[in-house]
Amino acid sequence: MPFTAVFSLTYQPNDKSNQCLNVFTTEIFTPTSGEQDEETAMSTQYDEIIVGAGIAGIVAGLLHVRQGKKVALVDSAESAGGLMRTYITPEGKHFDYGTHLLSELGIADLDKLLFECVRNDSWHEFDYLKSGHFIHKTLCERSPVVDATILKEADYLRAMVELVEATANPRDGYDTLSQQLTKCFGDTLYQELLKPAVEKLFFASADDLATNSHLLYGLARVQGFSEQTTRILKQLPKLNDVLAFHSHKEGNGAIKRYYPKQGGIGQWVDHLLSQFCEHGGKLYLNCKITGMSVHEQKVTSLHTDAGELYCQKLTWTIAPFMLLQSTNLHALLPEFAANQLNFLDSWLVHLEVDRAPLTSLHYYNNFDPQYAHFRSTLYSNMQGETENGAHRVTVEAFSKHADTTQISATDILQELIDCGVFPQESQLTYHHVDRISRSFPVPTVAFRQQQQVQVNCIRENLKNVSLYGKARGDIFFMNDVILDIYQSLT
Ligand SMILES: Cc1cc2nc3c(=O)[nH]c(=O)nc-3n(C[C@H](O)[C@H](O)[C@H](O)COP(=O)(O)OP(=O)(O)OC[C@H]3O[C@@H](n4cnc5c(N)ncnc54)[C@H](O)[C@@H]3O)c2cc1C
Repeated sequence: MPFTAVFSLTYQPNDKSNQCLNVFTTEIFTPTSGEQDEETAMSTQYDEIIVGAGIAGIVAGLLHVRQGKKVALVDSAESAGGLMRTYITPEGKHFDYGTHLLSELGIADLDKLLFECVRNDSWHEFDYLKSGHFIHKTLCERSPVVDATILKEADYLRAMVELVEATANPRDGYDTLSQQLTKCFGDTLYQELLKPAVEKLFFASADDLATNSHLLYGLARVQGFSEQTTRILKQLPKLNDVLAFHSHKEGNGAIKRYYPKQGGIGQWVDHLLSQFCEHGGKLYLNCKITGMSVHEQKVTSLHTDAGELYCQKLTWTIAPFMLLQSTNLHALLPEFAANQLNFLDSWLVHLEVDRAPLTSLHYYNNFDPQYAHFRSTLYSNMQGETENGAHRVTVEAFSKHADTTQISATDILQELIDCGVFPQESQLTYHHVDRISRSFPVPTVAFRQQQQVQVNCIRENLKNVSLYGKARGDIFFMNDVILDIYQSLT
């Protein structure tokens, strides 16, 4: 029978554990059956129950416990951290769930709470990340932003004239992404570079995608001019909105980025969770929610395989659809809005290669529709050393949830070789492929409407529930998720 592990006070990360970083000294909680006695009910009475122990749940938990509240953090997985975990192989190799470096938020109180634990000799501190991109068969090592200079001369000249002449507002006043990108960047850049990139990445037509969807892939701006010319043109607000700096070294402000010198990003999650437990928070892992009680439009308890957990308030960081189903509220919704939102599956292809990469980039985005992969993170370039002399890389790709085609590690290595990232003779010394179900949004116009209807339905009918996290569907980046929570709870 599966058990729920409950963590409180003792919280000892074990970096050598198999499969996952976040394994701790445990107090095993055996599921109870039947009536709970009064003492048990008291011990499972919380001010706040948070569902989902990804970064959204952890940050909400930290903010609540520091206000002195009694908090339970509940997750169905065996370890906490969600996409911020680190996968550890039985041999002790570390792989993250994508490119997940830490970046300060620029709010002193929040940065202290979250990053004090990484401001030490065990972590690298970066002023900027060496990021690049691949497009039109070319690896650009200077910037992650699409570079128009790779176009044929006639196309390039036309594209730059159109870009300079475009007078559109970059963010507002459009019905679809295709309309927005054409108006802001001109037809040539849209047709030649931006449309193929967004359609590759979202598996959807740009005519169906909602405005600003391209921001999820850092496609807010393009490059097109020399270093000096770009600086001059960016002084014009209209061009500043659509033109990126010539290099990833410029325009970074004073924000610091962090990555551990050894191991993976999951160590950060371990630090945050130990703070949470030290302040009295309780963590329920491997804990399945089987139902919930609602009284006078308030969720009063969660029914779980660890018993009934009572709450004053509920923080929900997983799919709103699941809350609608558990409370039968989905029956109130029109048919289209009662469905799960459309999220793609993410593939994480963890590779160890016997040769050093040919690039010094920390990561690059691949916008070229010829290749399945979207991004590669090169750990030895970030950490400055290898684990046992081999070079680890995590490659991300996407597929539709219903697609049964498998992505193979050997095909992905061949793509990296073809893109000039590893030498021809490279061989795999280790690989592991993970598929994360429904993890990347496809923000079509219909998705946005459906998401809004679901969120409104919950807000109107459940008065003690707060919705946060990526799964809510209207925010995606980790720091946006964190800021949203911080601004609501402080
Ligand atoms: C492939 C990929 C690449 C990304 N790259 C970047 C990037 O470069 N930069 C960036 O800022 N952001 C990136 N993100 C987004 C970033 O990962 C998220 O913003 C952040 O991790 C979201 O945290 P979360 O807590 O909302 O969700 P998650 O990390 O998904 O955590 C959700 C938690 O809920 C738990 N859970 C799920 N179902 C249940 C259930 N029924 N009951 C209980 N618990 C449940 C899960 O086990 C998990 O622990 C990326 C995301 C993906 C998918």
